[in-house]
Amino acid sequence: MSSSRVLVLNSGSSSVKYQLLDMRDGSRLAVGLVERIGEETSRLKHTPLTTGESREWTGPISDHEAALKAVSEELTRDGLGLDSPELAAIGHRVVHGGLHFTEPTVIDDAVLAEIERLIPVAPLHNPANLTGIRTAQALRPDLPQVAVFDTAFHTTMPESAARYAIDVKTADEHRIRRYGFHGTSHAYVSRATAELLGKDPADVNVIVLHLGNGASASAVEGGRCVDTSMGLTPLEGLVMGTRSGDMDPAVIFHLMRVGGMSTDEIDTLLNKKSGLIGLCGDNDMREIRRRIDEGDEQAKLAFDIYIHRLKKYIGAYYAVLGRVDAVAFTAGVGENASPVREAAVAGLEALGLAVDSELNAVRSDGPRLISPESARVAVAVVPTDEELEIATQTYALVNGSRNLT
Ligand code: AMP
Repeated sequence: MSSSRVLVLNSGSSSVKYQLLDMRDGSRLAVGLVERIGEETSRLKHTPLTTGESREWTGPISDHEAALKAVSEELTRDGLGLDSPELAAIGHRVVHGGLHFTEPTVIDDAVLAEIERLIPVAPLHNPANLTGIRTAQALRPDLPQVAVFDTAFHTTMPESAARYAIDVKTADEHRIRRYGFHGTSHAYVSRATAELLGKDPADVNVIVLHLGNGASASAVEGGRCVDTSMGLTPLEGLVMGTRSGDMDPAVIFHLMRVGGMSTDEIDTLLNKKSGLIGLCGDNDMREIRRRIDEGDEQAKLAFDIYIHRLKKYIGAYYAVLGRVDAVAFTAGVGENASPVREAAVAGLEALGLAVDSELNAVRSDGPRLISPESARVAVAVVPTDEELEIATQTYALVNGSRNLT
């Protein structure tokens, strides 16, 4: 029997998201999520796509091992168990691969050691990713496990974009540089945008705007990333749901010296209590738009700050690329919030950018153009699919072939 299934695991500190895909056609066989691992009220939601009927379960799941065992049991109930010979590999999302990992990589002890070595630059994410990998290895020690790194797509950035202008010795000693994140999404969306234009990715320059709760922009030249807005950590760049994005680093000294805040308090402030939620109390763009429609000034200001930053990045990456063929909006906000797309592009007609309001208002799950036919630069909505990209890269690596999407 040929092995054509890939299980994709995205392990967070207290959650595991998973999808089982059939790589003959990239279709989903099952999707699910375990949340609140380690609490009394852990929750498992499992949906086999054969029936589409979700099963939910709430109760204590003590750790990642117990979580994966529960997932395995659910999959077995649908005849999709992890012991099936049809399972070709497990693909793991790993947030930080530093400079070392430029490609998806089959995991061995040396790879595990390197992911562990990167914990100081990804203290929240890499430990959880490692736990997920080790647990999956224990369940299926014979199966190839592949790490797909969020940072890998950005390793092509030139030093001029990747380095901060700080003392080189200090930077190198602490591995301080711009790594970028959401790379799997930027890779997938830039390629899918070229496909939408009917062109080879090597011939297309794209500005990708990944606007979810976390948000990042990237400048992609002929399929290679040349700049991205997130940096050493995902805090830099655009205004996000709960993160500040760019600001004068001296704000931190000020908060310490004058505000008397601790490092951890400032970390929480900038990562969890800033961005849209800090500006207006809501981080969901739907709620912000609803409040704006009711005349709420605070929500309007938050929206305007969000758009102002976005526009600055479009302009900056236009300059970085020199020639832009397309601007692609993706992720929760980018795919769904037509007012954000319209406002981000408004006034940029001199750069060849425009949005057709009728096309922009169309709701669809597929990739689509929203710019007028006459526009010099295509503006597109391209739904991201990080799980498919992880599964595709994983399958290609263990199968020695490429090309599904
Ligand atoms: P993501 O991180 O990609 O899952 O995106 C989540 C965010 O997308 C939410 O916090 C919302 O701000 C936004 N979002 C999701 N659906 C919509 C929608 N229909 N309209 C506007 N924003 C949306």
